Amino acid sequence: MSQYSEYTNEQIHTMDKAHVWHHLTPAAAAEKGMPLYVKGEGLHLWDADDNCYLDASAGGVWVTNVGYGRKAIVDAISEQLMELNYFAGSMASKPAAVFASRLLEKMPGMGKVFYSSSGSEANEKAFKMVRQISHKKYGGKKRKILYRERDYHGTTIAALSATGQSQRRDHFGPFVPDFVEFPHCFEYRSQFGDVEDYGIKAAQLMEEVILQEGPDTVGGVIIEPITAGGGVILPPEGYMAEIQRICRKYDILLIVDEVVCGLGRTGAWFGYQHYGIQPDIVTMAKGVASGYAAISCTVTTDAVYQMLQEDNGDKLGFFRDISTYGGCLAGPAAALANLNIIEEEGLIANCAHLGEVLLQGLHALKEKYPMIGDVRGKGLFCGIELVLNRETKEPVDEAVAIQIVNACKEAGLLIGRTNRSFETFNNILNMSPALCITAEQIEDILNILDRVFAKVTL
Ligand code: PLP
Repeated sequence: MSQYSEYTNEQIHTMDKAHVWHHLTPAAAAEKGMPLYVKGEGLHLWDADDNCYLDASAGGVWVTNVGYGRKAIVDAISEQLMELNYFAGSMASKPAAVFASRLLEKMPGMGKVFYSSSGSEANEKAFKMVRQISHKKYGGKKRKILYRERDYHGTTIAALSATGQSQRRDHFGPFVPDFVEFPHCFEYRSQFGDVEDYGIKAAQLMEEVILQEGPDTVGGVIIEPITAGGGVILPPEGYMAEIQRICRKYDILLIVDEVVCGLGRTGAWFGYQHYGIQPDIVTMAKGVASGYAAISCTVTTDAVYQMLQEDNGDKLGFFRDISTYGGCLAGPAAALANLNIIEEEGLIANCAHLGEVLLQGLHALKEKYPMIGDVRGKGLFCGIELVLNRETKEPVDEAVAIQIVNACKEAGLLIGRTNRSFETFNNILNMSPALCITAEQIEDILNILDRVFAKVTL
C-alpha cells in the first residue's frame, strides 16, 4: 500500500491545482493542469494516463545522469537511513567521508569537500569563501566576484547577482553589491566578427573588466565550463587556459560551476577537465546523486582550505558556515552509489561515444533544415540554435522553440529549451539524456526530431 493509494489521479490533479505553486510556471499554464509523471525506468517516464516518454532532458533540468529506477541507489539510501538518517555536518559520518575521498580521486589537485543541498547553495559557499579570504588577507578590499554574461549560477539572491541572464534577474533586484559581469565567449555570436584567435580575445574581455574594476578589488571569477541554461555554449579554443592565466596573474580565485556538467555529463568526470585547467573551487549538484537525494558540494584546493583557518589568534578566522541538510546522510549515500554506477557501467565512455553520435546526427539535421543555425555540444549535452536566417542569425521567436518542444512531447520525446532566460535568445533547444542511453535510443531521438522539424511552421 502506498501513501497515495486512497487518491485517484483526478483528486491528485485537483489538489495540485489548488495548492502547489509550480516552479517557473505562470498561473494560466498551471490552470490547464500540469503533467503528472508517476514512474521512471532507465530513460523512460510514464505519466498517470500511461503514456510513455523517452526523456532526453534528464528530469527536465539535467539531473538524472544514471537514469530512473536505480535500485542500488534506493537500497543504499534506505540502508543508510535505517542505520542513521541525520546528524549535523559538523560530525563525521561514513557516507560523507567515503564519498568525499572517492570524489576527490576523480579531481586531482582538489583537497576538501564541503556539503550542502543545492547548486545555488554550493555557489553561495564559494562566494562566502572568496569574501572571507578577502577580509582575512586583503583587509576586505579584494571582494568583487566576476561572472560571465549568459551564465547561470542559481536562484538565491547572491547566486542571481552572479547570473548573466536578464530575464532570470528581472524584478528581483536590487542585487548584492560587488558582483560584476564580463562579456560572453559565444563564438557563434562573436563580438569581434570572424577572427582566428576568438578564444583569447574573449578571455581578454574579462581582463579588461578586471583592469577597469582594479585587480586589487577582484577576489574571484565564476564560470560554467559549458554554459547550460544560457544556451549550451562551449568555450572557444584557448579560452579556458587564458582565463586561468589571467586569474593567476591577478591572484584571483577561479570558481568553476559544474552543477550541470559535473559527474560525467560532458564525457569526462568534470567539464573543466577537457580544458586542462586547475580551478581553486569547483561546485556541483544535480548529477552528484542523479536526483535520488538532495546534495551539493563545494570542492576546494587544500590551499583555499588552509586560508580559511583560525590563525594569528583570530577565533573567527575559519570558515564558519553550515548547511542543515548538508548533514543529511541520504545525500552522500546516494552520491556514492551513483558514482559506483557511473564507474561500473563505464558511463563516462558511453557518454563520450554516444554524445558524438548524437552530435553528428544533429549536424545531419542542420544540413536538412535551414532553421537550424547552429548545433553544438560535448558528451550527452547538446544544443540546437534556431534562427530565421542563417546569414543574419536572427533568432526565431520563443514560440517556435515551444512549438518544437511540444511536438516532440506529442511524439513521445522530452527535450529542453532556454526558458525565460533572455529577451531575445529563448531560441535554443537542448538535450541531455541519461548517460546510460543506448545507440537505439539516440536513433529514436534523431528520428523524432527529424519528423518534428519537417512540420515546423514559422
Ligand atoms: N549552476 C548552474 C550552472 C545551474 O544550471 C543551476 C540550476 O539549473 C544552478 C547552479 C542552481 O542549482 P539549484 O537549482 O540546485 O540551486
